[in-house]
Amino acid sequence: MDNVKKGVNTICTHTGELEDKTFKGAVSPLYMSTSYAFEDVDVKRYPRYFNTPNQEALCKKLAALEHTEAALIFGSGMAAISTALMSFLQAGDHIVLQQTLYGGTYNFVVTQLEKYGIQYSFTEGWTVADFQREIRPNTKVVYLETPSNPLLTITDMTGVVELSRKNKILSIIDNTFASPINQNPHDFGVDVVLHSATKYMGGHSDICAGVVTGSQEIMDQVFQTAICFGGSLSDYTVWLLERSIKTMGIRVRAQNENAMKMATYLDNKSEVEKVYYPGLETHPDHELAKSQMNGFGGMLSFELNPDIDVSLFFQHLKLIKPSMSLAGIESTMLSPTKTSHALMSPEDRKKQGIKDSLIRFSLGIEEMDDLTKDIEQALEQVKNLTVHA
Ligand SMILES: *Cc1c(COP(=O)(O)O)cnc(C)c1O
Repeated sequence: MDNVKKGVNTICTHTGELEDKTFKGAVSPLYMSTSYAFEDVDVKRYPRYFNTPNQEALCKKLAALEHTEAALIFGSGMAAISTALMSFLQAGDHIVLQQTLYGGTYNFVVTQLEKYGIQYSFTEGWTVADFQREIRPNTKVVYLETPSNPLLTITDMTGVVELSRKNKILSIIDNTFASPINQNPHDFGVDVVLHSATKYMGGHSDICAGVVTGSQEIMDQVFQTAICFGGSLSDYTVWLLERSIKTMGIRVRAQNENAMKMATYLDNKSEVEKVYYPGLETHPDHELAKSQMNGFGGMLSFELNPDIDVSLFFQHLKLIKPSMSLAGIESTMLSPTKTSHALMSPEDRKKQGIKDSLIRFSLGIEEMDDLTKDIEQALEQVKNLTVHA
C-alpha cells in the first residue's frame, strides 16, 4: 500500500503515522524521550539528530506532500531557511535572491551572510530575465518566492529551474504562501522546497515550526548543517503539527474558495482601488499561476481609496482580526507599511509598489457573508466618522 500513490487528503491524514502497538489508539503515540538506548539499536536517536520517532513520522508526511524523497522539521521557518542556506553556501560563493523576499529572510541575508564571506544580490523584478541578470560565475544558489508577499507576484518556476540547471546552480523556493496543497515546486524541478510551518501547515495560529524538503542527497547535506545549528523542534509540537496537517487539505481548499470570492467582491467595490490575487483573470500572471498552481491560495492584497484611513478601518472591524502572521483558520488583515515592511525606507517601499493604503488579507474559513458584512460595516463607520470630522 505504501508504494501506491495516494490522494493528497489521504497523505495529510495518514502518511507516516506511528502505530500504537500497545493500545491500538487511532493516532500516533507521542514519544517525549530525549534519551534513547545506544546498544543493540539500528539508529542512535536524539532530538537534535532530527530522528526521534515523532520527527521521523512527520517528515515522511512532509516529504510525501511535497513529492520529495526526504524532509526535516525545524523550530521555526527561519531556522529552516537559515540552515538550508548555510548548507549550500560557503566563503566566496554568491546567491541570487528574489527582491520581494519575506522580511525575516531579507534580514538574515543582509545581516549575516557578509560575516561568512558570502556575496548576495537581489533581482530587480521577478521574471526569469531578472534572475539571469544577477547570475555571476560564483553563483551557487537562486532563491525564489511565488506567490510573493505582499503583492502576490508569480515567478515562472520552470524558467528559473532551466536557468539554474544550465548554470549548475541549486534552486531553493519558499513555498509558504502556496502550501503543498496549492503548489508542488519539486514537480517543476526546484531542488529545495521550504516552508514556515507556522502558517498553513499549523493552520491554527498556535504552532511555530519550519520545514526543508528535497532529494535524499540534498537532505543529507542539510542534515549535517542542521545538527550543528541545532534548530530542532520539541516533540510535543511535532506531534501537534502532525495533527494539524491532517486537516490541511480541507482547510486550504476552503481558504482558496474564500479568497477567490473575496477578491471578486473587493474588485467590485467602489472603496477599493486595486486587488492583487492570482486567481483574478485581471492579474498580470493569472495564466502562469494557473499553469503551476493547483489552487490560487488563501492570501490576497488590496488598496483602499487613499482618502480612507486604514487604521480607522482596522479599528472598526469586529470579526476580522488586524494582526501579524497569516494562514490561520481565522481571517486576519495587516498593513505591510506598519508591520512586515516597516523597516524598509518609504522610497524602497514605493519601488516595490507597497503603498500605505495596501492591506494584506489572509482568508480564514469563516462564512463569506459574515466576512463581507464585517467589511461593509467597518467601511460605513469610517465614512461616517470622516464626514463628521
Ligand atoms: C512566516 C514566514 C517565514 C518565517 O517563518 P517563521 O516560522 O516565522 O520563522 C518565512 N517565509 C514566509 C513566506 C513566511 O510567511
